Amino acid sequence: VISLEKIRVRFAPSPTGPLHIGGARSALFNYLLAKQYRGTFVVRIEDTDLERSNRESEENILASLKWLGMDWDEGIQKGGDKGPYRQTERLDIYKKYVDLLLENGQAYFCYCTEEELEEEREALKAKGETPRYLGKCRTLTEIERKEMGNRGLKPVVRFRVPDGQIINIDDLVRGKVSFESDGIGDYVIVKSDGIPTYNFAVVIDDATMDITHVIRGEEHLSNTPRQVLIYEALGLAMPSFAHISLILGKDRSKMSKRHGSTSVVAYKDKGYLPEALINFLALLGWSPVGEEEIFTIDDLIKQFSLDRVAKNPAVFDLDKLNHINSHYIRKAPLEEITTIAIPFLSESGYVSKEPNIEEFKLLTKIVAAVRERINNVAEVANFADIFFSQEVIFENEEAKEVLKEEQVPQVLELLQQKVMEAEELTAEVIKALLKSLTKELGLGGRKVFMPVRVALTGQMHGPELYDIIPILGKEGVKKRIASSTGQLS
Ligand code: GLU
Repeated sequence: VISLEKIRVRFAPSPTGPLHIGGARSALFNYLLAKQYRGTFVVRIEDTDLERSNRESEENILASLKWLGMDWDEGIQKGGDKGPYRQTERLDIYKKYVDLLLENGQAYFCYCTEEELEEEREALKAKGETPRYLGKCRTLTEIERKEMGNRGLKPVVRFRVPDGQIINIDDLVRGKVSFESDGIGDYVIVKSDGIPTYNFAVVIDDATMDITHVIRGEEHLSNTPRQVLIYEALGLAMPSFAHISLILGKDRSKMSKRHGSTSVVAYKDKGYLPEALINFLALLGWSPVGEEEIFTIDDLIKQFSLDRVAKNPAVFDLDKLNHINSHYIRKAPLEEITTIAIPFLSESGYVSKEPNIEEFKLLTKIVAAVRERINNVAEVANFADIFFSQEVIFENEEAKEVLKEEQVPQVLELLQQKVMEAEELTAEVIKALLKSLTKELGLGGRKVFMPVRVALTGQMHGPELYDIIPILGKEGVKKRIASSTGQLS
């Protein structure tokens, strides 16, 4: 589908909030194509909505892209010879094209007030027609315009939509999509404050930045005919379009905060790894050839193809993200996960924000003990009490009951004795120690391991005992046994 010319794709976020999961997926699909074809990935800021745009959002979006590892080749912060890359800094470029359209009669000034427009919309709705602008100001004379200007009215500029035209789009994902120009009223391309609208600026930018493929969310499909008309009116070379489907929540309604966090930074803050999020985002709409679900960014660059991007909506499945994330947590270098875990652990109050080397070493042991059991790095903190508190907290009555079994005093006494006598506490030593414990007492494993586990952790499930005991150390084992048995009465 994609010709081998140098491809230039772009991600063009509006900085009106943090980078959204859907936006990140659009960025990713563009990024993957750019890398696959050794093309150029451009990032441009679309901030023509002055009210809603802000620098904080812009910074969040760019930081999130970098965190995900999708660095761009050209654009905002990077520069390039087709800049500036922020729309509010390109106003003189837009003006040139607006003037051209005005001169050719393909655009005109409109002085209609909000009230008049509202009335028109209501009247059309009442007749069961699509609300649209019917072109009242299309035929204003020069004299009428002057007169309106003298009354202090500030005009907008509207694009004159050709009558009776079918607009065909060959979408790389959706196939042929057609629109009738008659359903589109003459739309605003420059607002009364002189700022162009998205539908106009995006065309000028994509054309002047030599963008070859526009890959974006399906919510923009209905904008595309409006944009195509402007390419045609100005005789600009048109890019290929690919509209990727919406992301729905598990209940099949549009993904929103109700379904969980929607911003990339929220996942970062919960201890999801960028590799995992990238892997997960790729599968939101794209399906690989085989059954494999784990893809590094390099795998994706090799295998991604728009041919395998589905038309039907993608469903955001948090369980799947957790599954993928836990895979990457198990695979990553221990030190990396430990570093990510520190802020979460320090929130629990047991660990300093900047642990020294000794403390860091202990933390890597804790992470090693628990990382098979977590979906995100924040969950490391769920185990903080076990490793740092002097007090055992029973997870429930059932756990407490375990310690009331008759063999327990014997088990714990012998365990403590053996731990105290051990020369060093390593996993190997503990494994052997627990084995000899069951043997000497002549008890089944469960009658030994469960009470030991509950006495040390207060819980009936958790990390391996041979991981826990070396971390607790002799003192820790003694104190925690004292704490848990002291609570039985
Ligand atoms: N600025 C638009 C948005 O954030 C993107 C438009 C486009 O990709 O054409 O939704």
